[in-house]
Amino acid sequence: MTWQTLAEARDEALTCTKCRLAGGRTQVVWMDGNPEAPLMFVGEAPGFHEDRQGLPFVGAAGQLLDTMLGSIGLDRSRCSICNVIKCRPPGNRDPMPDEIEACRPFLEAQLQFIKPRVIVTLGNFATRFVLAKQVSISRVRGQRFEVDGRTVIPTYHPAAVLHGGGNASPAFKALQEDFRLVASVLAEPVPEPPPEEAVPETAEQEALF
Ligand code: URA
Repeated sequence: MTWQTLAEARDEALTCTKCRLAGGRTQVVWMDGNPEAPLMFVGEAPGFHEDRQGLPFVGAAGQLLDTMLGSIGLDRSRCSICNVIKCRPPGNRDPMPDEIEACRPFLEAQLQFIKPRVIVTLGNFATRFVLAKQVSISRVRGQRFEVDGRTVIPTYHPAAVLHGGGNASPAFKALQEDFRLVASVLAEPVPEPPPEEAVPETAEQEALF
């Protein structure tokens, strides 16, 4: 990775032309929320409203995400929200593998600079990216995975819940359950970082060790 800061990565993303999606976008959708927060959500790709406003999850799926955040006493100032790809695919089709690869360094930079303690992946694309495995969301949702010292909790994409029957559906119940898990993981004590190993620098110090 060539960037020293999250802002440098963002500046490059905002003018990126590495894939075909650059030609059709209104705006690059970088992220929303608080990069200092311990919780990050990763979605799939911007849709119509996100492309217009330049912010993730501002349409119907975003309203459901906000409601779910509210259900565990949080809002956007207490988390960060990113997507696997930063530009809207035409007609909201699925991202293509080469588009995900072209955009990979940007989400990797977000993960690396933000260092969230808990990552909630929304749907198949985000879950496969973060777990680096071709899993199916319906099999892994509601479980917790420890990856590089972070807890990853996959759940359904809010849009899938809206299209799959809304509030009365089993998917909605699953989403509620998964958000309760998120709240309980966030409430766990933060593990102490391992003490830095002292390394003697001089012969005199060596003698003291
Ligand atoms: N769906 C996503 O995955 N991301 C958005 O930003 C909006 C809808």
